[in-house]
Amino acid sequence: MRALVKTSPAPGLELTELPDPTPGANDVVVQVFRTGICGTDLHIDSWDEWAARTVPTPLVIGHEFAGEVVAVGSAVTQAQVGDFVSGEGHLVCGTCRNCRAGRRHLCANTRGLGVHHNGAFAEFAVLPEQNVWVHREHVDPDVAAIFDPFGNAVHTALTFPVVGEDVLITGAGPIGLMAACVARHAGARNVVITDVSEHRLELARRVGVDLAVNVAETGIADAQAKLGMSEGFDVAMEVSGQPSALRETIENMAHGGRIAMLGLPAEHFRIDWSAVVLKMLTVKGIYGREMFETWYSMSVLLQSGLDLSPVITHRFPCTRHVEAFETARAGRCGKVILDWTVR
Ligand code: ZN
Repeated sequence: MRALVKTSPAPGLELTELPDPTPGANDVVVQVFRTGICGTDLHIDSWDEWAARTVPTPLVIGHEFAGEVVAVGSAVTQAQVGDFVSGEGHLVCGTCRNCRAGRRHLCANTRGLGVHHNGAFAEFAVLPEQNVWVHREHVDPDVAAIFDPFGNAVHTALTFPVVGEDVLITGAGPIGLMAACVARHAGARNVVITDVSEHRLELARRVGVDLAVNVAETGIADAQAKLGMSEGFDVAMEVSGQPSALRETIENMAHGGRIAMLGLPAEHFRIDWSAVVLKMLTVKGIYGREMFETWYSMSVLLQSGLDLSPVITHRFPCTRHVEAFETARAGRCGKVILDWTVR
């Protein structure tokens, strides 16, 4: 099979031939139709400090995918050949306290598909049966390929109730855009999104936010004034990882406000903790998806009419992976999809 491989501990990726995988007893083999490029894949491609200390080589990278089950292991009970599936990229231990309590998203021994184990940027991927999500209703293959990051967005957007609330989202990358779609669909009053890229803010306007704010030019307080708000945001979603975004968010929260934090800051930074105390704010870290409550929510949101199509902006055959990665890295895009069904 063809696979996109980090062949050695250095920058770059190679589209190369590998033997087709065979399933272990509890595994399924999926013929991959489409994959989505994630920021994680860009880090592994460029081989930054994080990648160098985290990723073993050689490794098939990638964790956002959709495809069809073509083989199942001897102990597999539910998944069947022919099922159309997406994949949960977090491989959990199954034996720690959180796993045994059904809180698998809190497993401290989580390993990543395409990060620690061979991933999905290939014609075939192998993963545990419990990590596939079978689509019972029709889902567009491109949308199915991004269920993993869509899940990050849903987990973030639905962590706190948003019905009738004023919602601030800092960061208009693909996850911020999808979180905006979900907050809007779920009944938020005002949805405000911030970024410093006009291109991404324009995408945000297309998905129906009330205000897309370029924070290089204007402040979030001005956005409140523009919308006739006076008491601050009820719910915030920090998806940029930028220290300035969290600081400005805290300044603009209503008393009793709640902040869901998915953006991963690169370094330690200072915030005004006295404001957190005096405003009685809740700050909650979000990582991955709840297994598999978030996945139910995702399927139901799509069935009830949520439209993610504006978030997917580029599609490339897997043979043009270099161009696809360059596009994703340049940031003038939403989600970038690779198609593995073309020669
Ligand atoms: Zn565990």
